[in-house]
Amino acid sequence: MEMPEVILVCYCGNPAKLNMSWSNDNPGRRFFGCKKFGNGFRQLCRFFSWFDPPLTPRSRFVVLGLLKKLRSLEDARKRERRRWLLLLVIVTIFLFLKA
Ligand SMILES: [Zn+2]
Repeated sequence: MEMPEVILVCYCGNPAKLNMSWSNDNPGRRFFGCKKFGNGFRQLCRFFSWFDPPLTPRSRFVVLGLLKKLRSLEDARKRERRRWLLLLVIVTIFLFLKA
């Protein structure tokens, strides 16, 4: 992963943290933000600066399509794992009762 050469300092004086957006508008696009943002920090520091350039409509379409496919494969894998676990429990109970 390409690393920034300059570390920005946010409004509260801390080095800004490099994060990745997973929004539908900017999937996979990196940005700098306050490292305390979202941690229940009382005084919100709204520092924000994009690191990567904007995605082209084509790259956004491709990334969102890949993310959708990844989530559907992960869901299918979870369902399959649950099915095998259930089968294992049923076979174990069956063997236990037969003995
Ligand atoms: Zn800050």
